[in-house]
Parts: sequence; C-alpha cells; structure tokens
Amino acid sequence: MKQALLGFLKRACYLLGLVQIYLLIERKLGWKRSVVSLCYHSIPAEAPTDAISMLEGGNCRATLDAQINILSKWLQPIDDSTLLGWLNRKVTLNRDGLLITFDDGYKNNQTVAGPILKNYGVPGLIFIPTDSITSRNLFWWTRLSNVMRHIDPTAWKKLTDHELPDPVLKIIAAEDLTSWASRKRARRQLAIWLDRQDSPEPALTTIESTTSRKHVESTPKQMEVLEWDDLSLMQNDLFCFGSHTHTHPRLTKLTDEAIQDELGTSCQELFQRLKQRPISLAYPAGDFDDRVANCAKTAGFELAFTTLAGIIDRQSDRMQLPRIYLGYSKPHEIYFFLAIINLVKYFPRNLAGRLMKLAR
Ligand SMILES: [Zn+2]
Repeated sequence: MKQALLGFLKRACYLLGLVQIYLLIERKLGWKRSVVSLCYHSIPAEAPTDAISMLEGGNCRATLDAQINILSKWLQPIDDSTLLGWLNRKVTLNRDGLLITFDDGYKNNQTVAGPILKNYGVPGLIFIPTDSITSRNLFWWTRLSNVMRHIDPTAWKKLTDHELPDPVLKIIAAEDLTSWASRKRARRQLAIWLDRQDSPEPALTTIESTTSRKHVESTPKQMEVLEWDDLSLMQNDLFCFGSHTHTHPRLTKLTDEAIQDELGTSCQELFQRLKQRPISLAYPAGDFDDRVANCAKTAGFELAFTTLAGIIDRQSDRMQLPRIYLGYSKPHEIYFFLAIINLVKYFPRNLAGRLMKLAR
C-alpha cells in the first residue's frame, strides 16, 4: 500500500513536471555539489525471461540506455580520477557528478553497456575480481544458478540423503522445484545461506553432484566474464578499472594478512596487465568494517566503494563511499531519484539517509 502510494506520487510529480522544475531551479541556484555513484552488474542484451536469470541479471540494454540517457543530461559524468581530484579540491564540477560502476567484470559490460556509455560520453568504472579473469572459474552464484536451472525435482529431493547442513536440508524440504517460482525461491534461499558461509564450496559441490557436469560447467551468456585482452582494448574507450579483490571473498571473514594478500595480488595483476595501478576498490558483496577499510587504505587505495545507499560529498569517508543500485527504474522513477539526490545534499547526513530510501 505504502509502495503503491509512493509509486503514484513519483508518477504524479513527473507528469505534472514538478520534479523537472525543481531540477531546473536547483541547477540555476544550487550552491552545493555532490556525486552519485551507481552500481551495476551484468547488462544482458535482452531482459531476462526465466526466473533464475532474473535473479542473476540487473538491467538490460534497454533499461540501461533509458537510465543513462536521463542521468547524463542532468549530471556530469566523471571517472574515479576526477572524483578523487574533486574530493581533493583540485577539480571543480559544473553540475552534480555521476560515476557509473560495474562489479564482477562481465563481458557484456563491454559488448552491451560499452556502446551505450560511448553514445552518451559517460565513463565506466569496472571492478575486476582478477582471479576470475585469469582462471575463468565460474562465480559460486553462477554455479548455483546453473544447478537450479537444470536440476531434476527427483534429484533435488535425493539431496536429503547427502551430508548437508540443516538449513540447506530445510530449504530442500520446503520446495519441490516443479515450477519456476519454486526454483526461484529455492535459489534465493540457498544464495542467502551460501553467501554467509566462510566458504560456499563444500555445500555447493554436494548440490552440484546431482546435476550433469555439462550443466554445472556451462556459462550462460549473460554471466560470461571479460578477458585480459578485452580490458586492454577497453582502457582506450572510456573505461577504467578498479579492484574487486582477487577471489571475491567476504573480506570481514578474513584475517588482516589474508585481506592484504587479496588486495595486493589483485593490484599487482591489474598493474602488470594494464600498466596502471588501480586507485579504487569495491568491497565484494559490499562487505566491510573499519578493519577492512583500514586494510584497503594500507594497501594504497585512494577510494573504496560500499553498497550503502547515499551520495558522496567532500566530507565522505573515502574508504566507505556509498553506491546506489537503481534496478529496473522507469523514467519517472529516475527523475524522482534525481530530485531526491539533489535535495538530500542540503540535509544533515542522518536525515539524508532516510530520504534516500524514498528514491529507490
Ligand atoms: Zn562482486
């Protein structure tokens, strides 16, 4: 009910031109600048159709195009070097800044998002988990999706005969996988559980043992990752690269030494391949705490991005920069989002956080 009312309000404000008028006034009279950083992942060419792919994918070509079209008109697209220069008061922005980021290094960031960004002159910052580019090992969430797409309901129930932790057995008992809805629920629940483990490997391997190798090892097109040669080509084409660690672990679960190893290996590989040291890091799964942030600083990163919602101003902690996930927002929602981010920069931080929730 609350969501429906908010949706109606957003559409009404857009159709009556109220948000556009506010944005024009703020552009003329606004005295404070901020930067909004958006977080994207895989950008498939077409909107996903099956329930499992919908869980995997973010936007698609059409939705990204519509979003960047509007955002690039109102905000000043920048890369991470410009953001750093602005935070250091060495660069000024004519409008509020827009930083577009992509996590995990998917191939379609180049093939699908690349032409869109080029068309609007918008730089893209891709956070690379270096091991996946070199080893071509599938991410655990891609492996889980492969199983959940292909597993036979009888084999699924037989998993109860295997050594699996109780929470996993409960998820298996609750679903029969005879519909896409059931597969989607099971996939979501398993992903939440696996994501909390120190290593998702043992349980995931057991679950995979019930499905054929062909299905386990296949990579759906929307989950293919970039190759090192792609990165070199993209460097000359509005793209820059940051670290997303080496193996994409949850950093808060690691010792200081292991964190330094993850960050150091990733930086070294990016430098060797691209001849440029990354200045930015994105914490895998947005998982960080003060200890992880200190390790990132010690490793030499100038900027580190979370998945906490918010806007960046010159007082923002550089090791805890917010990023916003827009999802499949429609044009009227994008305009409302723009109005909110233009408004919250004038509010104290605690109030701004609450207002930001309305924008998503
Ligand atoms: Zn990631």
